[in-house]
Amino acid sequence: MKKRLPVKLELDRRGIDLHSVRCPLCDDDLESVDHSIIFCEHALDVWDRVFNWWNMGNFSNFSLLEIFNGKGNNVMSSFGRKVWQALLWIAAYLIWKNSNNMVFQGKSWNGPVALNEVQIKSFEWISYRSRGRSFDWLTWLSNPSSYLTAS
Ligand SMILES: [Zn+2]
Repeated sequence: MKKRLPVKLELDRRGIDLHSVRCPLCDDDLESVDHSIIFCEHALDVWDRVFNWWNMGNFSNFSLLEIFNGKGNNVMSSFGRKVWQALLWIAAYLIWKNSNNMVFQGKSWNGPVALNEVQIKSFEWISYRSRGRSFDWLTWLSNPSSYLTAS
């Protein structure tokens, strides 16, 4: 949101001379923060998988603002909204990390592995930060949206 991720468009705005400001992964668009985190085909693949996993419908019409200010919906408890927002942040972070691994380490894309990483990291980080609440790995995998209504 503060335009601090070093995507090519931001580097170019700061006067760094680059050969190209196009996305190095897909070459379909300029490498902006929005493109890298949301609209690049690899990012969209992760968001689709995450939204399917959480039974949250289609990912379409989501914006970076909604990801970082994700308030959830009226069905969610106050705890559930925090879980949902943390999940969105974690998925966005891992999309960024995996994109960098592809660009700088030549790693290839694997959607199921990327989803699995989101599942593991979100479980670890959210459950460790939720003192006094019980998190169950199998429930997290199979019915994570049950945490959205937990009080
Ligand atoms: Zn791209």
